[in-house]
Amino acid sequence: MATKKKWTKKELNDFKKLIIEKRDKVIAELEAAKERADEALNSNSVNAIYSSHMADAGTDQQEMEKNYYWMDRDNKFLQYLHRALDMIKDGTFGVCASCGELINKERLIEVPHTTSCFDCKSKVV
Ligand SMILES: [Zn+2]
Repeated sequence: MATKKKWTKKELNDFKKLIIEKRDKVIAELEAAKERADEALNSNSVNAIYSSHMADAGTDQQEMEKNYYWMDRDNKFLQYLHRALDMIKDGTFGVCASCGELINKERLIEVPHTTSCFDCKSKVV
């Protein structure tokens, strides 16, 4: 087997910075979504008391479901970003688990927690 390829410390640090930036953005988005959900919940209970706006209540419901959908997505994304940070720590980040090659940088920026290079990923499917 050829010498094991590795990311340089600087490259790993750049990835780390990028992932932390993404993570902070997702956390901010999640907080905003939570606030919107709370507001929707509050206005919903107001609507329930003065239940004269049936149509509006329906829209609120949809709005809330959309909110929860986004929050769910963001939460998952956040977990992936945490996983990627763990992988940077234990040295498995950005290395294909199947062939040991370094994973394409653009791909890592899109999907930082990935453990297979594009070629291996295509083979598995
Ligand atoms: Zn591979």
